[in-house]
Amino acid sequence: MSEKMAWSQLIRDVPDFPKPGIIFKDITPLLADGEAFSAVIEEMAALVDGRVDAIVGIESRGFIFGAALAQRLGLGLVTVRKPGKLPADVHAVEYELEYGVDRLEIHRDALAPGHRVVIVDDLLATGGTAAATVKLIEMLGAEVVSCLFVIELDFLEGRKALAGTAVASLLHF
Ligand code: 5GP
Repeated sequence: MSEKMAWSQLIRDVPDFPKPGIIFKDITPLLADGEAFSAVIEEMAALVDGRVDAIVGIESRGFIFGAALAQRLGLGLVTVRKPGKLPADVHAVEYELEYGVDRLEIHRDALAPGHRVVIVDDLLATGGTAAATVKLIEMLGAEVVSCLFVIELDFLEGRKALAGTAVASLLHF
């Protein structure tokens, strides 16, 4: 069995979570397996190319993969968080959900103009979360080198929301 086959089998479908009709891709069994978690981080690291100054992790599963990747590459981690979690001055971006809006924040001094970053999250669905994160980074004058995901749900066409940004995912459904 290839390494990818092995870790991809540790992603579990949970029906009707967080609401009826949604099949949630649960990555917790993958995280609980040391070899699988390492294999995923190695695959992500292989996709990071050229000068990168920081990894940006999106709350909350993006923190897990983002922190491990940052460590692996000897880089720092910048956190993009849900409202009200970051203590110092923030920039905020609101984005549309199926019902209503959500909001993400970044510290105003988290990045400087010209910094080059890679955004990390566990899963790309509609792309709203990642697109809001791109906007936050651009508000700071920094540059998004690429967006990296463990899983991409191709049928939701999240890449369209990220047009103009390089996107790479390890696994496609
Ligand atoms: P989007 O904004 O692309 O529609 O949704 C992506 C965000 O929602 C990511 O932060 C991701 O963690 C979360 N998400 C949505 N669906 C799933 C899922 O099935 N599994 C996991 N693990 N995360 C999901």
